[in-house]
Amino acid sequence: SNVQDTTQKDIDAHALHAEVQYKNFSDLAGKVVFITGAGSGIGRAMADAFAVNGARLALLDINAELLNKAQQELQQTWPGIEVETVVASITDDVAVENAVAAAQARFGRIDVLLNNAGISMNKPTLELAAADWRRAIDINLNGAFYCAQSAARRMIAQGSGVILNTASMYGTVAAPERAAYCSSKAAVVMLTKVLAVEWAPSGLRVNALAPGYVQTALTDELVRTGRMDFDALIARTPARRLGKTHEIATLALFLASDSAAYINGQAIVADGGWSAYSYI
Ligand code: NAD
Repeated sequence: SNVQDTTQKDIDAHALHAEVQYKNFSDLAGKVVFITGAGSGIGRAMADAFAVNGARLALLDINAELLNKAQQELQQTWPGIEVETVVASITDDVAVENAVAAAQARFGRIDVLLNNAGISMNKPTLELAAADWRRAIDINLNGAFYCAQSAARRMIAQGSGVILNTASMYGTVAAPERAAYCSSKAAVVMLTKVLAVEWAPSGLRVNALAPGYVQTALTDELVRTGRMDFDALIARTPARRLGKTHEIATLALFLASDSAAYINGQAIVADGGWSAYSYI
């Protein structure tokens, strides 16, 4: 039927675009990649990026609906791909350990952790409730720590592994009304450095991705609720546009690959020039 033809066309077009954007990291074939926040935005693009290169995926998200949809799309786009999913919050250290143990049991190893799940927190500091502060720190920092610790237990035992923490340019530069967000992401950058220097002798690499504004549900929500002025944002950005999720996923591919074998303990900024630019 027409409906089915259109669907297959959509899938083929998606596969073609993904191959053009992501192909060529052949050393990632067969690698076991554990991705948090894989149901949406940057994490979802990362799943495509590693799928194109033949990786096996363990995907975690707190949102079951988004996660199931991601799994279905991946299996339709790359038939035969191995994708396991776990619905859990990264703030639950026991659930995280169980999820990593399940991935280890299924695939026999964990090669790459994409420690990506996170939330925004954008309020004038005097309006920031203690619960808001704790939520941002609990998800963005504590959750990243639990995932890194659980993954590294397996990586250290196998003598290799890559951990990429999705921090933010706001882990390296400040902005008003983002006390909790900036603090959580700055802590993720420092966590990245400590883990890198502690675990490099065991064969691990730990780096952070520091995206600028990337168009996702996260930034759509900030615009929708009036907490971000879209036109001002574009004017402030030297690239005159927001980043795209695939532009962060390609950074993850490079940093996870052997091409980045000597890069360790760094936060790599991808922000269209934002943080280099002294505005007026
Ligand atoms: P998104 O909201 O599109 O996706 C985040 C995903 O994480 C969602 O699927 C959500 O369900 C999941 N998630 C949220 N809390 C969770 C929890 N406690 N446990 C498990 N999963 C959880 O957001 P995004 O823009 O793709 O953000 C991904 C990461 O990138 C975040 O760490 C964010 O801080 C960071 N980042 C985003 C931007 C941006 O402009 N979009 C910029 C810099 C950094």
